[in-house]
Amino acid sequence: MTSSMAVSFDSDLMTRYGQSGPRYTSYPTAMQFNQRIESREYHLAAACSDGAVAKDPLAIYLHVPFCLSPCFYCGCNKIVTRRLDQADTYVRHLLDEIALRGLHFDRGRVVEQMHFGGGTPTFLPKKKLIEIIDRLDRMFQLTSAVDRDYSIEIDPRNIDDFGLRLLAGLGFNRISLGVQDFDDAVQRAVNRVQPLETVARVYDAARAIGFQSINFDLIYGLPLQTAAGFATTLDHVIQMRPDRLAVYGYAHMPHLFKAQRQLRSEELPDPATRLSLLQLSIDKLTAAGYVYIGMDHFALPTDSLARAKLDGTLHRSFQGYTTHANRDLVSLGVSAIGQVGRLYVQNHKTLGEYQAAIANGELPSQRGVSMNADDLIRKEVIHQIMCNGIVDIVQVEARCGIRFDEYFADELERLRTLEADGLVVVTGASILLTPTGRLLMRTVAMTFDAYLGPQRATKPMSRLI
Ligand code: SF4
Repeated sequence: MTSSMAVSFDSDLMTRYGQSGPRYTSYPTAMQFNQRIESREYHLAAACSDGAVAKDPLAIYLHVPFCLSPCFYCGCNKIVTRRLDQADTYVRHLLDEIALRGLHFDRGRVVEQMHFGGGTPTFLPKKKLIEIIDRLDRMFQLTSAVDRDYSIEIDPRNIDDFGLRLLAGLGFNRISLGVQDFDDAVQRAVNRVQPLETVARVYDAARAIGFQSINFDLIYGLPLQTAAGFATTLDHVIQMRPDRLAVYGYAHMPHLFKAQRQLRSEELPDPATRLSLLQLSIDKLTAAGYVYIGMDHFALPTDSLARAKLDGTLHRSFQGYTTHANRDLVSLGVSAIGQVGRLYVQNHKTLGEYQAAIANGELPSQRGVSMNADDLIRKEVIHQIMCNGIVDIVQVEARCGIRFDEYFADELERLRTLEADGLVVVTGASILLTPTGRLLMRTVAMTFDAYLGPQRATKPMSRLI
């Protein structure tokens, strides 16, 4: 592993600085999406974007909110149902939204990245998935280029081999499986029972079909998890060798997420155990050859994410890390977030409002924010922290037309505490995250977030770990 990718786990610093905070899949973050967005603003942003970057590729995110049963740790925007008629109605509106949004973009712009997320996209009957892809293909320019990035989230409990082959036939070349933990007691505690054999069957079938990349999502901090049990889960995962892994920390917020009230809080691991689960994950995965990409993500060195990390071309969008540069993102479906030029926009969060807007012939965009000049400068700095682990001060000055030390005088002052604690090394030319700092990159990024309170990253807040 190259020195720019090495990470070092310091329990004391992780505890002190492992605070809650934004994941910086955007800047400003969704918390700042408080402007009402009218259709004409979206249209204007799309028209400017088409003109400014004619034929620049597009990205698409499509949200399917339905799930067959609730996982008790879940904090997603989802609807638990077994009623397929609800899905029929939703898809009808979704098809109309695709047609409406498609009108705003030059059809010459190739869709080089597409992600279906949820909820559970594979909740939809196969026929409905075909209809959606067909409508997308009519309104946008989908591609079969080898370097396209078309991914879909799969619940291993409700996909068969034919379903996998269909997804490949529809153009998806990447899949993501929700695994979380293989321990039977943990699975029962979170109401998501999917034995190792179930996941292995889907994984083997997907490999045989030839999906370019397979991702597993794991979660640490779930009820009844122990270091020994999670070590066994990690061993199984390493043996299967998915190309990418996301290892998320469970955030227990039952006041916000009703499903989480089903969990027994006394069964949650204590802070010390949580910390040991995270350390275990980092140690085992890096020892097995996985590269730490950043913010809970790992990839095999052969994977495009690891290569992009190495050559400094990694990017970050609402779907996490990506190899595709800052593309306009067309968002489709209830609660979906997109970006067009300087405009971030989010659809209505409730099914009723979303469907009513479309039935009225309106875009279902509800709120968002238009980035100002300061946002764009800070976005560049935060991007460099989250993706490269280093801020190239000379480059930021050239791109943004600022004197870094003047513009960010307060932030540089605040960084001194992080530097004294060994998270960053600041020189006139760069801010370099140390191997310890790379595991706390969002703490460093928070220093540059103008929307956070004055204490920001220098004063440890509630824990992330
Ligand atoms: S974790 Fe995924 S499958 Fe489970 S309830 Fe949430 S969105 Fe649905």
